[in-house]
Amino acid sequence: MTVKQIQDEIIRLKKEKDICILAHAYQSREIIEIADFMGDSFALSVEASKVPQKTVIMCGVRFMAETVKILSPDKKVILSNPVAGCPMAEQMDRELILQVREQYPDYTVVAYINTTSELKTVCDVCVTSSSALTICKKLENDKILFIPDCNLGDWIAKQIPEKQFKLLNGGCPTHARISAKEVENVKKMHPDALLLVHPECKPEVVEKADYVGSTTGIMKFAEQSDNKEFIIGTENSIVTNLQLSCPDKMFYPLSKDCICSNMKATTLVDVLNCCKGVFGEEIELDEDIRLKAKACIDKMIELG
Ligand code: SF4
Repeated sequence: MTVKQIQDEIIRLKKEKDICILAHAYQSREIIEIADFMGDSFALSVEASKVPQKTVIMCGVRFMAETVKILSPDKKVILSNPVAGCPMAEQMDRELILQVREQYPDYTVVAYINTTSELKTVCDVCVTSSSALTICKKLENDKILFIPDCNLGDWIAKQIPEKQFKLLNGGCPTHARISAKEVENVKKMHPDALLLVHPECKPEVVEKADYVGSTTGIMKFAEQSDNKEFIIGTENSIVTNLQLSCPDKMFYPLSKDCICSNMKATTLVDVLNCCKGVFGEEIELDEDIRLKAKACIDKMIELG
């Protein structure tokens, strides 16, 4: 079968079986093309909760499928490839956070959405990369324990110096691969390009950026900017997505190594097999865990 034939078969099956397909922006182009929605993880979960379809296939990583299930407990939620996990989401466990909470009882625990549902049950509020700053500012408590990404936490902390932050040593291995040396080299090659980076990058990379924001933030900035050239400091799929949506502009990857192997674990054939019902993993969450994790997300919605 050709790629086009597989895509046509997926489109036929999703109509026949009333399936909604979500694709994170870091998925391959051929998957994004057959998805009903493409975007950041939390925005996708919200979209899924509004659609009439009772079955949702999440083309992304495990914590994203869990977030879909947290918001849509009555839907059948399928993770497109069971091996697609997020190393950052799984870096810390419940027991570790409970211990740290005991050590710092007067701190509010803020969890990046890139965490397992189990971990969310012992945190106070969730944030996305686009809502983190607003939410941390709005928290009444001036003492914040930010988990798991110390790079994102550091970027937020520097913008709210009046608050006291404690960070743990976690983060995204894909974004952490980008070095300050690469920034120097790519800027020399493209002196007129603006540098747009994700706050999961290291502080020495973030401090050289013209714009720092979430994946969606980076895409909006590039689309709306009058500038014609951009260096993209996030997963390299965004370079392709932007090049297709803004053909009159030029986009360059900040690092050839900024590719998330977990996000790329799902293939178009996996999605086809999920639609056929012979592949993927149905996400099941214990109701107690789901409700506690949802409370953490609800707090984010209330504050954000
Ligand atoms: S890019 Fe980083 S945060 Fe996103 S799924 Fe991959 S490892 Fe996790």
